[in-house]
Formats: sequence, C-alpha cells, structure tokens
Amino acid sequence: MRNKNRAALFAFLAVVALLPLLPVPAVWISLLNYIGLSSMVALGLVLLTGVGGLTSFGQAAFVGIGAYSSAYLTTALSASPWLGLLLGLAITVTAALIIGAVTLTMSGHYLALATIAWALALYYLFGTMGFLGYHDGLSGIPALEVLGISLADGRAMYLLIWGLLLLAVLAAHNLLASRPGRALRALKNGAMAEAMGVNTVWMKMVLFVLAAVLACLSGWLYAHLQRAVSPSSFGLTYGIEYLFMAVIGGAGYVWGAVLGAAVFTLAKEFLRSKLPALLQLEVSVEAIVFGVLMVLLLHYARDGLWPLLRRRFPRQPTARAPATAPALAKRAKPDTGAPLLEVQGLRKEFGGLVAVDDVSFSLRAGEIVGLIGPNGAGKSTTFNMISGVMPATAGSVRYRDESLAGLSARQVVQRGIGRTFQHVQLLPTMTALENVALGAHLRGDFRPQGGVLASIARLNRTEEAKLLHEAAQQLERVGLGDYLYQEAGNLSLGQQRLLEIARALCTDPALLLLDEPAAGLRYLEKQALAALLNKLKAEGMSVLIVEHDMDFVMNLTDHLVVMEFGRKIAEGTPDAVQRNPAVLEAYLGDIA
Ligand code: ADP
Ligand code: MG
Repeated sequence: MRNKNRAALFAFLAVVALLPLLPVPAVWISLLNYIGLSSMVALGLVLLTGVGGLTSFGQAAFVGIGAYSSAYLTTALSASPWLGLLLGLAITVTAALIIGAVTLTMSGHYLALATIAWALALYYLFGTMGFLGYHDGLSGIPALEVLGISLADGRAMYLLIWGLLLLAVLAAHNLLASRPGRALRALKNGAMAEAMGVNTVWMKMVLFVLAAVLACLSGWLYAHLQRAVSPSSFGLTYGIEYLFMAVIGGAGYVWGAVLGAAVFTLAKEFLRSKLPALLQLEVSVEAIVFGVLMVLLLHYARDGLWPLLRRRFPRQPTARAPATAPALAKRAKPDTGAPLLEVQGLRKEFGGLVAVDDVSFSLRAGEIVGLIGPNGAGKSTTFNMISGVMPATAGSVRYRDESLAGLSARQVVQRGIGRTFQHVQLLPTMTALENVALGAHLRGDFRPQGGVLASIARLNRTEEAKLLHEAAQQLERVGLGDYLYQEAGNLSLGQQRLLEIARALCTDPALLLLDEPAAGLRYLEKQALAALLNKLKAEGMSVLIVEHDMDFVMNLTDHLVVMEFGRKIAEGTPDAVQRNPAVLEAYLGDIA
C-alpha cells in the first residue's frame, strides 16, 4: 500500500531532477520555473487559506517585497543577493507582523477586503518610490551564484527553484503533522481550539508570517531569474491568480499548490499561444475561455484537483502512534472528597434576559454531579461561564482554591478542566488519533505556542511520540482502540462523543465537563457512554455533566442540581430529586 505512494513520489522527484538534463526546449524550462515560483506562493496560501481559513488576495505584495529588496541592494549598493534575501525576509516578517496584528482579528470578507487594501497600497508604493525606479522598476539585477557556480542560465535556476520548492513542501508537510500543525488545522474551529489550549490569534499570525515568507522567497528568486523588476508583476491581479492556483489545486492539500500552479499556468499559456490560431477570430477571447474554464473547474471540483488525483492512491494516516513512548507529565490530582468546584451566586444576563440567576452548587473530587433541567434552563450558559467561554455578570467560580474569574477558556483548560461540546466539535478529515492528540496541545516538550520551527525541521520526534502515544491510550481508555486511524467524520455520533471525551482526557483534567454527551445517541450508545463514565469515576475522575435527559443521569450521578428558567429549583441525590414536586412539574411541563 505505502509502496505505491512512495513510488509515485520518487517517480515525480526523478522527473523533476532529470528534466533539465534532457534536451527539452528552453521555453519549457522557463514555464517550469514560473510554475515553481507560483507554487511557492500558492503553498503559502494552502497554509493560510486552506488550513487556516484566512483568505488573502495580497500575497503578491510580499512577492514584491522579496523581489525589490534584493533588486535594490544588488543594483544600487552592489550588495550580495544573499544580503538581499535577508533584507527581504526581515522586511517581510516585520510587515507581516504589523499587517497581521491589524487585520487578523477581522474575519470573513472583512479580512479579504483588508488584504486587497494592503496589496493595492504596497503596489502603488513600489511605483512612487524614486529609488525603486518608479513604474519602470529596476534592471541590471545580477544572477545568483551558488558555491561559485553562476545561475545565469534558466536550467541552473530551475534546479534552485524546484529544490527550494520541494524543501518548502516538505517543511509544510512536517509542520502540519506536528503538535503546532494540529493546532493550525483546528483554527477553522476557533472556539474548540481555544478550549484545547490553542492561542488561535497567535497561530493565525504564525500562518500569516509563514505564507508571507514563502511569497518573499518566490519574489527573491523571481528578481534574480528575470534580472529586472517592475511594479506591474506584483499587482492585485497576481494576488488573485495565486489564490486561484491554490483553490484549483486544492487549498486543503500541500501538493495542491504545485498542481494548481501547474494547471493554471499551463492552461493560461496554452490558450494564449494556441487558441488564436485554432479559432481564427478577429477578437481575442482567451481571457473569456480561461475564465469559463476556471469557473467550471471550481464548480465540478470544489475541493480542487488534488483530491481527484489522490483518489487513485491509498490513503495513509499523517501520524501513527508508536508502540511505546515515555509518559507525559501528569498534574497532581486532588484527594477524593476534597472540594474541587465551588459555584457561588452565578448570574448571566444577555441584554434584558437573565439566562442564569443566582445559581450555587459544589462538586467534590471523585464525584459525578449532574446539572439538569429542561431546554433553555441555562445549563449551557452555566457550563460556559465555568469553562471560561464567557464571563459571568455576577457570582464566582472557585476551582481548587483559585478563582476562575476573568480567565479565558485557554487558561481554564490549563488549570485542569477538560470539556466536551453540546454539538460535537471534531475535525472530520483528521484521524481519531490526531483529533485526540489535539487535546494534549499544552503537554508538549516545547512552549505551548512554540515548536513551529522545530517541527518543520523534524526536531519534534520525541514530543510527537509522547503525544501520539498518550492519544492512543486515551482512545483505548474510552473504547475506541480499534479506530485510531479512522477519519473522525466517518465515526458514528456515539463514537464521536466518546472521541471528544478522549480528547478532553488528553488535557489531563482533574475535572471533566460534559455538555449533553448523551444527546442524539441510540440506546446502546447511551449505555456504552454510561459505562465509560462509571469507569472514569472508579478511576477517580470528577465529572460535571450537563444533561437534558433525566433518565440518563439517574443511575450515574452522586448529586443532581436542577435548573429551570435560569434558577436552581432543587438539588440532592438523584432519588430525592426524582420525587421533588417542583422538578416533576418542570419536567412534565417541558414534555407537555
Ligand atoms: P440550556 O443549555 O439549559 O438548554 P442555555 O444556557 O443554552 O440553556 O440558554 C439559556 C437561555 O439563555 C435561553 O433562553 C437562551 O435562548 C439564552 N441564551 C443562551 N445563549 C445566549 C446568547 N449568547 N445570547 C443571548 N441569549 C442566549
Ligand atoms: Mg444546552
């Protein structure tokens, strides 16, 4: 199975490496050079747009920064192109950090519009600067030299461009298969990522800078290939084309960037050179034909072309759990019976609506406490205030002798409160193993928001082994040991809920918060879930379970807190609560 994929990859690499040695025409090499340069920018967009969900039309501006930095230094100051590259990277990273800080908190079309704005701004800036040659740009840029060999020839540049591109593809591949990479892949589901301890704003910045650096590198190579630069090569049109390439190839896939750049460039070139002769028309219709082709492509292959090609090859999981690995550090757990969670006078107002009104209850270590009540009672809101998703209007939550007031979801999970979601929040195309490993985001060897460069360079193998081994063990623990390499989206709802519990367990919690884990489950699935919760309890885990279904919690919980219309109407042992007239009325009223 794996051999077929390997063989295809090696065949591709062999063709790439041998091509310039064969007597192929120079125009081919030239086309391939442009495909390589575009692929690099599109690869950045695969990360930014495909993985991170952030649309940018402005990548051409970073290409321009890379090109102009080196063009200026090497022509005006006769400096080395390598110095030009360093300057380009320095300006790019600085610009990306500043632009990112301003724009990345925006979302959807606001972000897209912002990228158009700075693309235009930088484009006009290039054309108005005297020392950059105004609209004529700069020429007489020297050829690159590597180890004393001049790369003035297109074939020599080809090797450098494609060599760097393949390294970039490898780097992206390594990154995505790492702890920070899983965090990046979770960005489209920001609330869930934060609940696993991911600093989503910072991770978006990481993507933005990486994409900008790839664009800058492409620009630097372009300047020394073309030996002249002018603003027109870095306009908004190019920014749009790069995005097109990524989307056509498949923005969710690293190789989609290369495929997209190749298809786009070749189609455009073919239409430009062959179509006029074919159609014998007075007017030029290439642009229209090209546009129609692209729209058709997007219509029939929404995820791009790469998945269609990949279908012919066996799928392989990105990450595999090792048979053994050193154990991850565990936090000290509270003694059974010790006070763990203390909710006092909690209140939440949404405008005029009081969703939670003066709710108090407590939970001791080793207990399963149920928070029940009819729909709209305020259970999830209470849950969200405890887990740091939203601040309380009044009241306090104390956990292990510490107030949780003002803490974010990320800080709450860091303190040992793991959670699941009322509506399952998984990454459907990621394996069960990787979904669960995301829960261990804060338990790696590197700083929680670091490890990006180490992962790119594969210096994270020990970390990965530990995290994936832990994830596999948690999957075993919840009874999903046979599903490690299944895509989460292919599991049944019952399995997906267990998967969420395994992911929460991976955060090494002292308290587990479950929001309606039995909702939508079939009878047998509910029984399996109850058995798991009983097992966790026997292992000493403390659980706060929010539930609508009273039957489910009856035999499971030590203590029940009942809410209705935002207020606590009863609490006690399940038996006592079941006989409480106010509770019966609330539930009967709900059914009626
Ligand atoms: P439960 O989980 O018990 O079904 P919720 O806590 O979700 O109930 O909701 C309690 C009440 O608060 C409902 O009336 C709901 O419409 C309202 N509510 C919940 N979240 C919000 C919000 N973000 N903005 C405004 N109202 C909300
Ligand atoms: Mg709810």
